[in-house]
Amino acid sequence: MNCFECNRSAEIKKYKAYLYEGISLDNVHLFNVEVMHCADCKSETLILPRPAKLHLAIGVAVVLQPARLSGADAKFLRRNAGFSLKDWAKRIGIADATYSKLENSHRPVSPQNDRLIRVNYLNALKQKHSEDFHLAKYLEIALSVNTENTKDFAIAVNAEKPEADAKYLPYNSPLLAKPEVSVVEAKTLPIEPLAKVRIACGYSLMIPAFNQELALPEENYNVSDNFTFAA
Ligand SMILES: [Zn+2]
Repeated sequence: MNCFECNRSAEIKKYKAYLYEGISLDNVHLFNVEVMHCADCKSETLILPRPAKLHLAIGVAVVLQPARLSGADAKFLRRNAGFSLKDWAKRIGIADATYSKLENSHRPVSPQNDRLIRVNYLNALKQKHSEDFHLAKYLEIALSVNTENTKDFAIAVNAEKPEADAKYLPYNSPLLAKPEVSVVEAKTLPIEPLAKVRIACGYSLMIPAFNQELALPEENYNVSDNFTFAA
């Protein structure tokens, strides 16, 4: 398979665990993920066949986490649910400017706001994924979280099977080391059509097609010019 950046031949490696730097959170690790490495231009490209499902799984792990939400968590949940700051703040009943400070950690998330954000997010997901979304179960967990707990864990989501429950792991867990499992033989990706989304931090994602549910912040990506979206 050829590198998306320079079109020279590139190698795909599969990792047991890989820090997912394409999003605003700094503690999300992906398990069983394929990464394209180009020896020529040194680019690394995560290959995510089901990014919408994956981001939903990350959102659920964040909203159910056994500790107070951080500003970055609040921001991720809002964007993952596909809301502008203005609309989201309005639903929660906080002035936009105040909510913006909260998201940017210039103001702590209070226990009350923590609850409001969780309920609002779960409700938004219920509307989007009505059929198989277990709102009652998730609300039960989210509302029983002790928000006095400090967040001192990483979140691990299985990229191959995002619907499986995510894990909360201590940062020093050996499961989060970055052991290379194998070099996967160059192949054509089993998904068509593909869109290429470039993330500001230098990573790229391969996604099956443009998908609103991915809900990545607009300012953080641009779709390559040479791609035509398919329905
Ligand atoms: Zn390259």
